[in-house]
Amino acid sequence: MNRKLSIPILGQGDPNRPKDVHLVGRYALGIDWSDGHGSIYPFEHLRAACPCGACAEGVAPPPVQPREIQRLDGALRIMWADGHESLMPYAELRAGCRCAGCTGVH
Ligand SMILES: [Zn+2]
Ligand SMILES: [Zn+2]
Repeated sequence: MNRKLSIPILGQGDPNRPKDVHLVGRYALGIDWSDGHGSIYPFEHLRAACPCGACAEGVAPPPVQPREIQRLDGALRIMWADGHESLMPYAELRAGCRCAGCTGVH
């Protein structure tokens, strides 16, 4: 299933596993990762980053709030208020972290 070589290193957190998922204000989602890193994703960015085929067509999604957020085993499932559903793999969310530490901007 997972084509990337992945050997768990016991005793420290998996950087791609969320420890805590929570809302940040009214417009963003925060994820605290198992290795202690914290990421914040504005809903607008999450919606625009939806990896599904329909969204890849290039139509800009309307700004919309999530209606329901569910933590699955390897991905976050977001049901949007407009009825669209996004499945965001944790590894991609982590790779998309825009904090100063991850983007190298100081
Ligand atoms: Zn989509
Ligand atoms: Zn980061």
